[in-house]
Amino acid sequence: MASQIKLSDAQSVQWLLTRLLECYGPQYWWPADSAFEIMLGAILTQNAAWINVIKAINQLKIANCLTLDCIIALSKSELAALIQPAGYYNVKAQRIHNLCQFLLESGDFSTLQQWETSKLRSALLQVNGIGLETADDILLYAFDRPVFVVDTYTRRIGSRLGLFKQQAPYEIIRAFFEAALGECSANMNELHALLVQHAKQSCHKVPQCSKCCLKSACIYSTI
Ligand code: SF4
Repeated sequence: MASQIKLSDAQSVQWLLTRLLECYGPQYWWPADSAFEIMLGAILTQNAAWINVIKAINQLKIANCLTLDCIIALSKSELAALIQPAGYYNVKAQRIHNLCQFLLESGDFSTLQQWETSKLRSALLQVNGIGLETADDILLYAFDRPVFVVDTYTRRIGSRLGLFKQQAPYEIIRAFFEAALGECSANMNELHALLVQHAKQSCHKVPQCSKCCLKSACIYSTI
């Protein structure tokens, strides 16, 4: 591997995936028991630490309400109370209701699974409260579509490695990874999860480069 990753080099992205796998092993994302749970988690994780998402999901499980039928029957205030640990609970309750309404009107999961990815992505983005990152979380992890999720960690690590500018448009970064990884949703799933892990382990806002397994290829390295 060269001492610096070159922009638009698909082999560099493959190297990144391989190296992170060597460092951390498979991540087995998304941690959930069903596609519906993944979809709810994608909304609950907006501006929230994952540990608090787990608490909110567990409250739904304890209430035996981790189903479309149960959630749609709840009032917004009842749902907000259950998901309170995830924060912004009134806003998120509305967004979850919006998503459930979309699911009800569009058919069951197997129906949506037949839709082309571009059609499904457009439809999800029409749901009030579902933005680019949330839609792509749902597409990749709930529907197993080859769509790369661009989050804060992706921007931070990718820009520090010199792959793109940190403030590059979402769709430019998404297209960069999708071109590099082809149609392989499994690799997109794994790389996104590994980038999150790497950000938590060493590539913090103030990075701990001394223990980083990518430092030989990083233009931002502090050592
Ligand atoms: S060397 Fe430092 S800045 Fe670069 S990826 Fe590793 S932790 Fe992040």
